[in-house]
Amino acid sequence: MTMQERLSIPTSSYADGGVKRMLIDGQFIEAVAGATFESRNPATGALLAHVAEGDGTDIDRAVASARRAFDDGRWSRMKPFDRQTILSRFADLVESRHEEIACLDTLDMGSPLVRTLGNRRRAVGMARFYAGLTTALRGETIDNSIPGEFFTYTLHEPVGVVGAIIPWNNPHIAFIWKVGAALSAGCTVVLKPAEEASLTALLLGEMLLEAGLPAGVVNVVPGRGEVAGAALAQHPDVDQIAFTGSTATGQAILRASAGNLKKVTLELGGKSPNIVFSDADLERAVPGAAMAAFVNSGQVCSAGTRLFVDRSIYEEFVERVAEFGRSLLIGNGLDEETQLGPVVSQAQLDRVTGYFTIGRDEGATVLSGGVRLVEGELAQGYFVAPTVFSNVRDEMRVARDEIFGPVISAIPFDGSDDLIARANATTFGLGAGLWTRDIGRAHTFARAIRSGSVWINCYNQMDPAVPFGGYKMSGYGREGGVRHVEEFLNIKSVWIRTD
Ligand code: ADP
Repeated sequence: MTMQERLSIPTSSYADGGVKRMLIDGQFIEAVAGATFESRNPATGALLAHVAEGDGTDIDRAVASARRAFDDGRWSRMKPFDRQTILSRFADLVESRHEEIACLDTLDMGSPLVRTLGNRRRAVGMARFYAGLTTALRGETIDNSIPGEFFTYTLHEPVGVVGAIIPWNNPHIAFIWKVGAALSAGCTVVLKPAEEASLTALLLGEMLLEAGLPAGVVNVVPGRGEVAGAALAQHPDVDQIAFTGSTATGQAILRASAGNLKKVTLELGGKSPNIVFSDADLERAVPGAAMAAFVNSGQVCSAGTRLFVDRSIYEEFVERVAEFGRSLLIGNGLDEETQLGPVVSQAQLDRVTGYFTIGRDEGATVLSGGVRLVEGELAQGYFVAPTVFSNVRDEMRVARDEIFGPVISAIPFDGSDDLIARANATTFGLGAGLWTRDIGRAHTFARAIRSGSVWINCYNQMDPAVPFGGYKMSGYGREGGVRHVEEFLNIKSVWIRTD
C-alpha cells in the first residue's frame, strides 16, 4: 500500500480544482476584484485549486479587520487562560489532522510526504509551545535610584497588528511558527502566504476558527508578493512585519516599512558552511553533509551548501557524499519511497539549472547531478538531480550565492589556520556545521562562527524551544524559544510616586 493510500483523507477532497477563498474577518470571501491565480502541483503540473488573489484593497480590508480585533481587545484582553485554551485546541487540531495538512503541502510545493508528515512532532510541538507561553508572560518590577519614593514596573504589551509574510519551502511550519508566537503575545495577524503554496495557510486559518479564535484575529490573504505583500509591508496600520524569505525581498520590506517605522523581524537567506575534519565520525558525516544540503531539494534557508573538507579525506569523502546523492529516490512526493521531490516552480528550476551552467563555466567539476531529470513521469515536474560540485574555490559564485536547490559546493582545506575566516567570508550568517571528535575545536568554532545556529556533529536540528535566526544579511530577530514571543511585545515602563 502506498503512503497516499494509507492516508485517511483522499487528496482530491481538498485539492479539487475549486476556488479557495481568502480569510478576512472570520469569513472566507472572494477578492474584491474577483481575481484568482492557479495553484499547481510541481511534481505533475496538475491543477490543485484556483486561489483568491488579494491586492491592496483586500489587504486594506484584512488590516482593518485585524485592527478592530486588536483595538477592541477581543484577543489581547482575553484572559491568558482562555487564549491558551483556544491555542491548545488549535494544537489538538493540528495533531489530529496533521496528515491532511502534510498532504496538502506535498501537493502544493512538492516536498515528499516522508518529510511533510515527518514534521508532525515539530508542528504540534510549536503550537503547544506557544499555547503554553500564553499564561507565562509577565512584566517586572524594578528598583530605581531616584531620590524620593517611586515604584517602577513594566507592562509587556502586544505590539498590535502583525503582518506575517511567509515563503513556500515549509508552509505549514512557517504558518504555525509565526502565527503561534504572535497570537501567544496577544497580537492580531494578517498573513500573506507565498503564491507557490497558499493552501495550508487557508486550512490552518479555518482550524484556528474551529478552535474558537475570534473573527478578525487571524486573516489570511493569498496574493503576489509585489502586490499584496508590498501593500502589507507599507500599510500604515500594521505595527510589525514578521518576514521569512529572500534577502532581496527582506530589504524591500524594510524600505517599505519605513513609512510608519514598523517593527520588523527578518529571517532571510543563507550560504551556510559545513566543515568536515578528518577526525570526524565519517559514517555519520557523509549522510549528514549530504542531507544538510539535499533535504527538501535544497530549499532550506539554513542548508549546509558550502562543504569544506579536510584535504586528507577530501577525494574519498566528497565522492561518498555524491554517491549518497545518487542513491536518493526522487519522484512524486506522494509516493512512500520518495526521498526528494521536485523544486517548487519553473522559476526555481531555471534558477537551479542556471547555477549548473555557472558552476561548470567557473571551472568546478560536476561530481554528480548537474542536470534536470526528465525520465518518464519526471518530465512533467520540476525535478533536478542532487548535485555535488567539487574543486570549488571560495570566490566562485556557486560558493557565494544562495542557490536554493540540492547543490553542494565542495571545497578542500589544509590545516585550520584560516578556516574560520573563510567560513565567515559570506554576507550571510544563518547556520553552520562542524564535524569533529575534538571538543576544543568544536567550542572554538561555535564561538568564532558568525551565524545564528551552529550544529556540531549534526545539522539543521530545530526545536520549538530553541531560538533560530540570522546574523548579518540573514536577518534579525529570533524565532523559536521564549524570546520569539517577546519579539511581539512592547515594553512599557510605569512610574508611580508613592510618597
Ligand atoms: P523566494 O525567492 O524564495 O520565493 P521571496 O522573498 O520572493 O522568496 O518570497 C517570500 C515571501 O515574500 C512570499 O510570500 C512572497 O510573495 C513575498 N514577497 C515577495 N516580494 C515581496 C515584496 N516586494 N513585498 C512583500 N512581500 C513580498
